[in-house]
Amino acid sequence: MKRTGFDEHSDRQLANEFLAGHMQCRRCANTAERETLSSYGGMCGGCYTYYVTGGRPIPPLPSPQKRRQILQRLRFVLEQRNEQDPREWARRLQRREEAGEPLTLFQREAWRRALRVRAPALSPSEREEAFDAA
Ligand SMILES: [Zn+2]
Repeated sequence: MKRTGFDEHSDRQLANEFLAGHMQCRRCANTAERETLSSYGGMCGGCYTYYVTGGRPIPPLPSPQKRRQILQRLRFVLEQRNEQDPREWARRLQRREEAGEPLTLFQREAWRRALRVRAPALSPSEREEAFDAA
């Protein structure tokens, strides 16, 4: 609508309607929508972004193609995990110990606990190690 002149009554009404939904940002004192200020702790959008990012520039979103690649990789990893034995890590540690590799007391206990295998009795030096670790 094109303005043809100054109408004090309607201009004041417009101003009042605008101000009813707006308040000052507590940081920069610019006028912002009440809803925005309410959501962002009394700050306008710009001040809130600055507050959250510490003034560092926000990196651009990856391209749609890049996002698709990331999702495909994530899906691949998750599907692989579902197919795998969830206690594979414990069996791997068990195989390493049985192959004669020296594992830490924590590793030895962890795979036994996961696979519900009773631990052999500790030697006196191992008992000391366990005592020191606790
Ligand atoms: Zn502000």
